[in-house]
Amino acid sequence: MKIRVLGAHGSDLLVKGLTGSTNCRSVGFLVNNELIVDAGTLASGLTLEEQQRVKHILLSHLHLDHIKDIPPLVDNLFGLVDHQVVVSSVSSVVEGLQQYIFNDIIFPNFFHLQGSKHAILRAQGLEPMAETVLSSGISVIPVLVNHTVETVGYIIRDDTAAWIYSGDTYHTEEIWEVAARTPNLKGVFIEVSFPDSMMDVAIQSKHLTPMLLAQEYRKIGKSDLPLFVYHMKPIVRDQIIEEIAHLDIENVTVLQEGQEIEL
Ligand SMILES: [Zn+2]
Ligand SMILES: [Zn+2]
Repeated sequence: MKIRVLGAHGSDLLVKGLTGSTNCRSVGFLVNNELIVDAGTLASGLTLEEQQRVKHILLSHLHLDHIKDIPPLVDNLFGLVDHQVVVSSVSSVVEGLQQYIFNDIIFPNFFHLQGSKHAILRAQGLEPMAETVLSSGISVIPVLVNHTVETVGYIIRDDTAAWIYSGDTYHTEEIWEVAARTPNLKGVFIEVSFPDSMMDVAIQSKHLTPMLLAQEYRKIGKSDLPLFVYHMKPIVRDQIIEEIAHLDIENVTVLQEGQEIEL
């Protein structure tokens, strides 16, 4: 499976560095050119041709940094593609998206567009712990994690590889139990939002710090499993990277925009 990082952060920020500027973008991944995993960055990270190939959007939860690029995608694709883009998650998320965003107030309801041949978006509710095969031949299992709103992480797999996507989470158990018994597990993507010095903020907002990340990762019990870290708040990215470097984890990558991972 080919995973491209569109956004690796928990917010957007243009960061000036010694060798130039880096654009930190909200969380979003493109899988095999047609599946989006979280949509904080989507339309702003893909060309029009690439956006036309998007068939599926998989969401972990409703927080804005995970959904905010769906409206511009729809704007760009409207009238241009014949297929529907399927938005999948647990029912509270796909229903909430229509209630709070695509409600004809914030944005037109592209799930049920009046007078249109067919709506460009289609909602697909997923059952926690049930495996669903997406049109792209990739299957997903949502697993509830521990965040301030209902949130799922995912086991995402095809014939050759499986990987774990944590969603936004604090300490959690079930997803790591599932991970431990998942065959062909090639990598785990785990969020880290704050440095250890901001532990109180992390606990309050139900996110992880590098120290908490290490505790969660060890629950899988596979010490050589490649670990990919995402969802850093841009203003504390450097501090987080420094703390992660001091963790006793052999195969860890802090993700950045534009990176491609083959699992
Ligand atoms: Zn988030
Ligand atoms: Zn969140």
